[in-house]
Amino acid sequence: MIMKNAFSRRKFMGGFALAAGYFSLQSDTGLLASPPSELGPDGRPLSPDAFDKLAKLSFNENPYGPPESVLKAMTGAMKYANRYGYPDGGIVQAIADHHGVGKENVLLAAGSTEILDVVDETFLEGGKKVLGVEPTFATVYEFALGLKANAIRLQLLPDHRQDIPAMIQAARENQQDLGFVYLVNPNNPTGVIVTKQEVRQLLDGMPEGVPVLIDEAYHHFVESPDYETSIPYVKEGRPVIVARTFSKIVGLAGMRLGYAVAPAALITRMRAHAIASINAIVKWGGVAALRDTEAQARCKAVTLQLRKQTTAELTGLGYTVLPSEANFFMVHLRRPAKTVIGEFRQRGILVGRPFPPMDDYLRVSVGNADEMARFLAAFKEILPVSGSTATTKPG
Ligand code: PLP
Repeated sequence: MIMKNAFSRRKFMGGFALAAGYFSLQSDTGLLASPPSELGPDGRPLSPDAFDKLAKLSFNENPYGPPESVLKAMTGAMKYANRYGYPDGGIVQAIADHHGVGKENVLLAAGSTEILDVVDETFLEGGKKVLGVEPTFATVYEFALGLKANAIRLQLLPDHRQDIPAMIQAARENQQDLGFVYLVNPNNPTGVIVTKQEVRQLLDGMPEGVPVLIDEAYHHFVESPDYETSIPYVKEGRPVIVARTFSKIVGLAGMRLGYAVAPAALITRMRAHAIASINAIVKWGGVAALRDTEAQARCKAVTLQLRKQTTAELTGLGYTVLPSEANFFMVHLRRPAKTVIGEFRQRGILVGRPFPPMDDYLRVSVGNADEMARFLAAFKEILPVSGSTATTKPG
């Protein structure tokens, strides 16, 4: 069983790096407008130097990398690089303690992407459907497609919030075929939150026993008092699976570490589908990262400050920006984003791919101060100022 799943998963995607390439290929002009970041505009691999010089604002990564404490822990764990069996720093217990749950409530994975895959494999068996919104982090839908399962994708509300009453209604109407519901909070690519009242409304409105996967990849960046993590619902024993990642606030995207917190019975079912091939180094890094709350606070502060500064400038230029609570934001360009992605790329700046049906919005990750300055300078060159609809200026 595990071998079969391992095979199908690798065959279908093999990981987030590959998945990112897959999305580029998928979107109509994605490949031309936004080649994978490791390739140059001519489609040939970039040298590491050329790659380093790019302002990487396309994958909502952490531009600072892991903090000192995490680097130190990972360096210390290098001595286990040659081992299959080794002390792992107690990573699962550390996560359990962090959330006040038991080890049986935690499933460790090679990034939260693996959790999304595992949830699909566990709950979509027999042609069941996943229900969520569009646009959102589409990996769950893409994996479902690979399993020959279907997705019910609901539109966002006009103000770009997720439509909770519509989700409840769709869940009830599709109760027989529904595998699980997917809620990204804050949502990617919009950055918009689902309030704590709405999450409760959703969970209270679900048909009995339908699992709800709540993806909290950007949890650490939220300021709004209307938002809350959904971990307490797991403690209540509701069929809620919370996915978390070390890729964003801690800056370990390339090292691949994430996890799920869920009731033990769900974790047991999911574990049968997990490969969880996680390296020794990042396990120690993860333990150190959970302890270093000061580093997380510093990363949050600088990210939010740069997001607010950048979005204020864009607003000043006459552009509307969605109210993001994450380390990225969406700006309404009033023209297809795909027409400008290449122009940013020519200036050495990678910005988000198109997110249909929000074709006129550009998603921009919050990089460091230098990257945001480069982004704004390029934006002013590429796009017209103050509400005019003039065509793109020559670059
Ligand atoms: N979930 C969401 C909402 C994301 O935006 C991302 C990555 O961008 C992921 C999950 C995947 O994160 P990881 O690096 O842990 O696989």
